[in-house]
Amino acid sequence: MCAEKLKNYINGEWIESKTSQYEDVYNPATKDVIAQVPISTSEDVLYAVECAKAAFQVWSKIPVPRRANVIFRYQQLLTQHRDELARLITIENGKSLSEATGEVQRGIENVEFAAGAPSLMMGDSLSTIATDIEATNYRYPIGVVGGIAPFNFPMMVPCWMFPMAIALGNTFILKPSEKTPLLTKRLVELFTEAGLPKGVFNVVYGAHDVVNTILDHADVKAISFVGSKPVGEYVYKRGSEHLKRVQVLAGAKNHVVVLNDADIEEATNNIIGSAFGSAGERCMACSVVTVEEGIADKFLASLTKKTNELKMGNGLDDGVFLGPVIREDSKQRTIRYIEKGIEEGATLICDGRTRASDDGFFIGPTIFDEVTTDMTIWKDEIFAPVLSIIRVKNLKEAVHIANRSEFANGACIFTKNASAIRYFRENIDAGMIGVNLGVPAPMAFFPFSGWKSSFFGTLHANGKDSVDFYTRKKVVTARYAAPSFD
Ligand code: NAD
Repeated sequence: MCAEKLKNYINGEWIESKTSQYEDVYNPATKDVIAQVPISTSEDVLYAVECAKAAFQVWSKIPVPRRANVIFRYQQLLTQHRDELARLITIENGKSLSEATGEVQRGIENVEFAAGAPSLMMGDSLSTIATDIEATNYRYPIGVVGGIAPFNFPMMVPCWMFPMAIALGNTFILKPSEKTPLLTKRLVELFTEAGLPKGVFNVVYGAHDVVNTILDHADVKAISFVGSKPVGEYVYKRGSEHLKRVQVLAGAKNHVVVLNDADIEEATNNIIGSAFGSAGERCMACSVVTVEEGIADKFLASLTKKTNELKMGNGLDDGVFLGPVIREDSKQRTIRYIEKGIEEGATLICDGRTRASDDGFFIGPTIFDEVTTDMTIWKDEIFAPVLSIIRVKNLKEAVHIANRSEFANGACIFTKNASAIRYFRENIDAGMIGVNLGVPAPMAFFPFSGWKSSFFGTLHANGKDSVDFYTRKKVVTARYAAPSFD
């Protein structure tokens, strides 16, 4: 059977790209080709921008509560289709069905948050700033917004972007990852069913050319990007050079500290979920554990035992915890990192290569002990189920190690000691902190808040930051003649 050739969605219509170049989309658990995605051309993007710009003239003037109504209906439709959406994520991304269901839920929460646009978009005013003079600050949408998304969260990450941007009156062009384009199609169909007018939400599939055209186009006023650090840095520089607002959420190397007083069972379960869930392909995945010497042996024994028991396989199957990585080159890259870890002197205590399988892009969970900060496996974001362990004397040393990383997305601590938690919070370089939990991803109404090389820009995704990012302000200072109503 011939795999479906995907079309772009521009101005309310599914239209064929001008390209002749298509890329295969795989189910990473089976290696089946499940679709073909167009590597669209600049011409496709130019048309999308033209349509989005025209749609902005109408959509931006629709009263905010009416826009919010469409978002409410969208929320309902997404909720009704939750299971179908989750299955689709598992099929194109490989993560387990329960992880995918969680992702759908997080996406829906972003839509719910965006439905609060009437309150979120309110300005402020002061009735008297001088005699007979008042001032009011209004918020307006900014125009056409471009979103560029990674493969690892085909629903949640785009939902950080387009629902809020659109609820606030902007129009949107999304370029999903070419590796996971199918879910986007359902996101579009359901938004259209919810009553979204044509031209407001557009999707152009593809790669570099699409990104570059979005970055360079004068009529695209803001860019939201989520992806790796090298690409994010490039996007930030090129978008800023073209005088746009740019927010870039980039790579990570998240450290987790386990202190002597930690509950071993709790720490182990959470760390396994964080390091190996979604095959380690999460920007909030735990990559390094710094464990206090007094608990290290016990903790590692528990971690290794439970890791060896993890069920690998197709994420659609019952009880599967660990699915495949996204592509064969990700698997081979992971194997090279494992070899590098051995070569640089780390102790391999759980070898994922022994559980690798060619039925799909499978590589097993891997744990290295005695890792040091000069090793490549400590420095690089591997983005796979590979975990490094460093034994430390105390919390101060653990924080010092984590702060040497160029990344600073999330960081967690396992302890019962309130003073240690406070020390950690005050001294760790990270925008998102977890206490006795493994994945401290903030909910939609808080910013997703990486630091250092994990984020470029000023305003983060989600929370009030997203309202500021997708709106501009107008302050009216008005004098009224002194009243004489005698
Ligand atoms: P990626 O950087 O390879 O791709 C991201 C997007 O950029 C894709 O749409 C891709 O098509 C496009 N792209 C890739 N190379 C490009 C180039 N040279 N020029 C222009 N566009 C290009 O990232 P990925 O592999 O899809 O996703 C994994 C990365 O995303 C990891 O580094 C992960 O940490 C990061 N991520 C970060 C967050 C966060 O919140 N900080 C969230 C999710 C993922």
